[in-house]
Amino acid sequence: MNFKTLDQIDFAGKTALVRVDINVPFENGQVSDFTRIDAVLPTIRDIAAAGGKVVLLAHFGRPKGKVVPEMSLRQVQPALEARLGQPVAFAEDCIGKPAKDAVSALKPGEVLLLENTRFHAGEEKNDKMLAAGLAALGDVYVNDAFSAAHRAHASTEGIAKLLPSCAGRLMEAELTALDAALGNPQRPVVAVVGGAKVSTKLDLLGNLITKVDALVIGGGMANTFLAAMGQPVGTSLCEHDLADTAREIITKAKAVGCKLVLPVDLVVAREFKAHADHQIVTECPADAMILDAGPASVEQIADIFSGSRTLIWNGPLGAFELEPFDTATNSAARKAAELTRAGTLVSVAGGGDTVAALNRAGAAQDFTYISTAGGAFLEWMEGKELPGVAALEAE
Ligand code: ADP
Ligand code: MG
Repeated sequence: MNFKTLDQIDFAGKTALVRVDINVPFENGQVSDFTRIDAVLPTIRDIAAAGGKVVLLAHFGRPKGKVVPEMSLRQVQPALEARLGQPVAFAEDCIGKPAKDAVSALKPGEVLLLENTRFHAGEEKNDKMLAAGLAALGDVYVNDAFSAAHRAHASTEGIAKLLPSCAGRLMEAELTALDAALGNPQRPVVAVVGGAKVSTKLDLLGNLITKVDALVIGGGMANTFLAAMGQPVGTSLCEHDLADTAREIITKAKAVGCKLVLPVDLVVAREFKAHADHQIVTECPADAMILDAGPASVEQIADIFSGSRTLIWNGPLGAFELEPFDTATNSAARKAAELTRAGTLVSVAGGGDTVAALNRAGAAQDFTYISTAGGAFLEWMEGKELPGVAALEAE
């Protein structure tokens, strides 16, 4: 990976167009989670401190190319001001006269938020005219929205080709962490892939077996693998039509020397319900469903973690929303956290449910890096080039 950072740009007196992800959740008219706002503050502060004028570009919701007042970024402006601790100006449009006038009024160190880029149909079409309209407002482009980098949009990709460009602090941290996990990792590397279905993670499994030394398969997708190997799965969540695909992955993993790890014991129940009556078995009864990996499997996973230097994790090992079927996920997560604290493991995780599961386990804060980027994180795990990253200027 090769990209410029804020450190390579002189911002004094310059106008920086900074793409951020402040697509924050609202409850009762108030921002209910400041994580995304707080995450971009270091970039804003560093540019402002260097004497730059900060112009924020962002999307909010899915207005699909039309002006939708409920999706105005004006609603986010007060929260941004409060977290930043300085005034943030607002412009009614992200291009044209309103934007130009607002940019002209800015002094070095000041911050301006432009209206939702997705109010223009050209944003998601990566329209050249829109990208040019945005680029005309400033001198430098800074992308700090890794979570939007898997989309080639005017404000994430098109604009980067028209101005000197670099990664913001959050983007830099994310790319550095991801590179340490899969790009250029310390070996052995173990990946954990769990979650509901194989079908949603085929590309991810295909990429990982070529890159990691061991791949732990858990959650509902492990059932598909077990069934493909001829083991009974009862009434479990299982994609029987993907049996051939699962067998191909097993064959390919063997060929490239990636150790595939499936559960050796199972926690089964008759109902998909918290505290459902359950047993630990090595073979799933015909009338039962697999809801978690058993204690012997957890022990096996813990041993692999202990012998690894790097861990990359997406997908829970069981139906973690339902106690006690969060046990394997919790135990494995705590083991990873412990090894990370001890300094023997670099641990990186991402995915909506995965982040929730690691938080529930009380393990998230000890991981080396937790990506909150969702779709962009998964596409990166699939080995895909992210257009918003590829478009950044090389060092
Ligand atoms: P992520 O959002 O981190 O990428 P996924 O969405 O792929 O993760 O998977 C999470 C879902 O998988 C959870 O809702 C969890 O309940 C479900 N799941 C995991 N194991 C099982 C299982 N054995 N049976 C049914 N659902 C499962
Ligand atoms: Mg999910």
